[in-house]
Amino acid sequence: MPKLIENKEKHFVLFLNKNRCGGCESCVTLCPTGILEMSDELNMRVSFIPKVKEGKEKYCTACRRCEFGCPDWAIYILDESQLSSVEAKKAKT
Ligand code: SF4
Ligand code: SF4
Repeated sequence: MPKLIENKEKHFVLFLNKNRCGGCESCVTLCPTGILEMSDELNMRVSFIPKVKEGKEKYCTACRRCEFGCPDWAIYILDESQLSSVEAKKAKT
């Protein structure tokens, strides 16, 4: 799953499931720090997908507004505990 942001200090990752995105721009509008913008990359739904503005990764606060506002469940944050449980599941398979 493509990582838009990996914050090792605060232990969270912002993921984008590119091909679920419908290109609605809600995440861009809802982000309180304004770090997201639409890219010129099209996905399999022929929708433009969001990206993080260059050099702005560190301003993501992991507030999850983008996640809660996404109608397609395409963008989401995983924190340290969720990431370690995903890794544990992977190790078992
Ligand atoms: S988690 Fe919050 S700050 Fe980070 S990209 Fe999403 S809306 Fe913006
Ligand atoms: S809110 Fe979801 S569907 Fe809309 S542009 Fe952002 S990631 Fe894509």
